[in-house]
Amino acid sequence: MKDRSLPEGLRPETLAVRTAIERSQYGENSEALYLSTGFVQPDAETSAQRFSSGDGYTYARTSNPTVTSFEQRLAAMEGTEAAIGAASGMGAILMMIMALLKAGDHVVLSRSMFGSTLNLFAKEFGKFGVETTFVSQTDVDEWRAAVRPSTKLLFAETPTNPLTEVCDIAALAEIAHGAGALLAVDNCFATPILQRPTELGADIVMHSGTKYLDGQGRVMAGALCGSHQLVTEKFAPVVRTAGMVLSPFNAWVVLKGMETLAVRVKAHCENALAVARWLEAQAQVARVYYCGLPSHPQHELAMRQQSGLGGGVLSFVLAGDTPEAARAKAFHVIDSCRVLSIATNLGDTKTIISHPATTSHGRLTEAQRQAAGITQGTIRVAVGLEHPEDIQDDLMRGLSGLAA
Ligand SMILES: *Cc1c(COP(=O)(O)O)cnc(C)c1O
Repeated sequence: MKDRSLPEGLRPETLAVRTAIERSQYGENSEALYLSTGFVQPDAETSAQRFSSGDGYTYARTSNPTVTSFEQRLAAMEGTEAAIGAASGMGAILMMIMALLKAGDHVVLSRSMFGSTLNLFAKEFGKFGVETTFVSQTDVDEWRAAVRPSTKLLFAETPTNPLTEVCDIAALAEIAHGAGALLAVDNCFATPILQRPTELGADIVMHSGTKYLDGQGRVMAGALCGSHQLVTEKFAPVVRTAGMVLSPFNAWVVLKGMETLAVRVKAHCENALAVARWLEAQAQVARVYYCGLPSHPQHELAMRQQSGLGGGVLSFVLAGDTPEAARAKAFHVIDSCRVLSIATNLGDTKTIISHPATTSHGRLTEAQRQAAGITQGTIRVAVGLEHPEDIQDDLMRGLSGLAA
């Protein structure tokens, strides 16, 4: 048989469509879906050897060929030695916590991170004695000052939801490594198309495959990417015993989604920039948050860190004399849409409009929301792949009735 192993040095676009486990004996051109929980062993000796080493396929909580294809493709795109799948983005974070932290250990996290991430650390793992300090997303000195001898992990997300605040990955990596800790980055919003955190010094990249990797709002998935040692010695034993395993069907859907990630993400970014510029020109809009706009406080850092692109998510604010008045305006704009979906996902081909103060950030107290910069007049738009002028027209249906 001719050597069909992939040559070295292939570029990310090529890796995105070509990296996966070998074809089966049937020579399928689209990757196979191995919807199988168990795997038949050639003999008892091989079975015993596979069970003790974890190599080869035995049972789908340990590994499955379709999940392996997903992991290899994601690792290739992130430029890491290895990756491991999880049932969801939150499942991936749970795996990371269980693998790396114990009672008495300390973590530093940005206050602006995804709401469920904040809750998982502060509430669920607070209970098990893992201590967390929350710091400013953008003030590197706060991160440095928060580090203690017991600090094992710094965890950052950039850009954030919904205000697209950007943190400096290279600066945080330096702080983490100076303290003998690891830096993990939630790369859900940027994807490896915009930024590859390990190239900037991060040790772990966390993904929610539910968002742009799938890209069509179909399945839940998650992953951690990192060194071979971290994945095989730290993360894999946790999945095997705790079971936050990625389903092979979901892995297959996301695997195929990743083939078009580069073209989709660039189109999301172009559309988002067009809509952000248009919103900034509307008299009824008090402020637009989009790191691709020069008016954004971390615009320069974002452009340097994110391949010159702003991502697909933006937010804007409608001002009101009272929080109730601002909320009424926001609800009016959302309810006037006839094209955009009122939903809480993002990274979908369909543009999604949401009201963070009563959805993703609804469980926060008003004081926590204020600290996070989210008001009752804030609207988030996860820009999809419709024509940008149709998105603008849909937003205008509600905006046109509001006083400037
Ligand atoms: C959605 C999301 C998560 C959680 O992922 P799930 O797949 O929903 O569990 C984590 N971080 C960010 C930034 C997200 O947007």
